Amino acid sequence: MLTRFAYIRPKSLEEAIKHLSSDGARVHAGGTDLLGCLRDQVFDVKKLVSLSSVKNLRGLRKSSNGAIRIGALTTITEVARHPEIRKSYAALAQAASEVASPQLRNQGTIGGNICQKPRCWYYRGEFHCLRKGGEECFAVGGENAFHCIFGGESCHIVHPSDTAPALAALGARIHIRGPKGKRSLLLENFFVPPEQDYTKETVLDQGEVVTEIELPPPAEGLKSSYRKVRARRSWDFALAGVALAVGFKKDQVLNASVFLSGVAPIPWRSKEVEEAIKGKRLDSEIIKRAAEAGVQKARPMEQNAYKIPLLRSVIEEQLQAIKNG
Ligand SMILES: Cc1cc2nc3c(=O)[nH]c(=O)nc-3n(C[C@H](O)[C@H](O)[C@H](O)COP(=O)(O)OP(=O)(O)OC[C@H]3O[C@@H](n4cnc5c(N)ncnc54)[C@H](O)[C@@H]3O)c2cc1C
Repeated sequence: MLTRFAYIRPKSLEEAIKHLSSDGARVHAGGTDLLGCLRDQVFDVKKLVSLSSVKNLRGLRKSSNGAIRIGALTTITEVARHPEIRKSYAALAQAASEVASPQLRNQGTIGGNICQKPRCWYYRGEFHCLRKGGEECFAVGGENAFHCIFGGESCHIVHPSDTAPALAALGARIHIRGPKGKRSLLLENFFVPPEQDYTKETVLDQGEVVTEIELPPPAEGLKSSYRKVRARRSWDFALAGVALAVGFKKDQVLNASVFLSGVAPIPWRSKEVEEAIKGKRLDSEIIKRAAEAGVQKARPMEQNAYKIPLLRSVIEEQLQAIKNG
């Protein structure tokens, strides 16, 4: 049962921020995640603030320096299909087209995708878990087949978004507006790991809105990709996945940015894989060693050790593919 709340559809961002600054107010973008959370009583709201009538939050535009700016209200379908994204930021196009189902991609927005709440069944269910202000993470002694193998200090969620690891690997910046003005930061630093604060997923404060995501101009020789493995071929979240952005000079790796999905509470940067391939030619021995390095620090729970060989294989497969692609 939904509790009673006010619903507001402001025309300007300033007005939206004013409404969002009050306690219990939340952004409504596409609603595909938010309404499920409300129905399942994951949290309560006093006021929903729809961004649908706020101008200039939709669509993609190119800046004079070649960067691409994506409005937070742009649908995931639009991101997946955009010719410039497909051409120069393949990891993002692939990640966006792997999100959920066509209906959800038509309704869900890129801003909502990176701000969505975790899918842990204890958090979404009737459990007063640590993340909801309780005293324990029920995944520790419970059903933990889909939980994290990295970074699970106190809470063991996995980050649900497919686009977030791709954006992080591509060096995206996130632009935020709030009651105190504007700020922007690397998307990689937008997510809050449980060791820092297990009650929030992002750095957003009350009243703050993600307005844009900015992709740097495509660097020469950069190849990128995203692949996730899921339990079934229809819509599903990642069991394990990898986003790669690799700069090549001829066949040698100049720089690499590697983020893992489905295995950690935030898009998980794998410095181990990056270090294993930097300055190298991607022959099968280097690829094997890099994939092994990528799983070496994994700490599985009772039921999710299967994620280790899965992740190792997907890293190996994607490094091979990016080398040949
Ligand atoms: C059945 C199902 C399957 C799914 N499968 C996948 C999947 O495989 N991969 C994947 O990545 N996702 C998946 N999702 C999640 C889906 O992609 C997200 O629900 C969607 O992207 C969220 O976008 P939205 O616009 O609907 O956000 P909303 O539901 O409107 O909002 C989600 C959250 O983000 C906040 N928010 C939204 N926009 C902003 C903003 N601009 N600034 C600040 N806060 C904001 C809201 O307050 C809310 O807390 C699935 C969802 C469902 C229901």
